Amino acid sequence: MSKSKNNLTTCYTSLECNSCKTLKKRKFTDGDFVFSSSETCSDCNGKMLIIKIFGVTMD
Ligand SMILES: [Zn+2]
Repeated sequence: MSKSKNNLTTCYTSLECNSCKTLKKRKFTDGDFVFSSSETCSDCNGKMLIIKIFGVTMD
């Protein structure tokens, strides 16, 4: 019996809006790092701050 260990880890980035505290989750992209702000909130045009980067393993 052999089980494949071909698990795939996908990284996600969690962002929070500085102004309205909206939370957003999207796929990690190159250059993301915690406490950087790279995008604008779609609700209030405030700054979105990256609060967490995490990986999800699927099998
Ligand atoms: Zn906002």
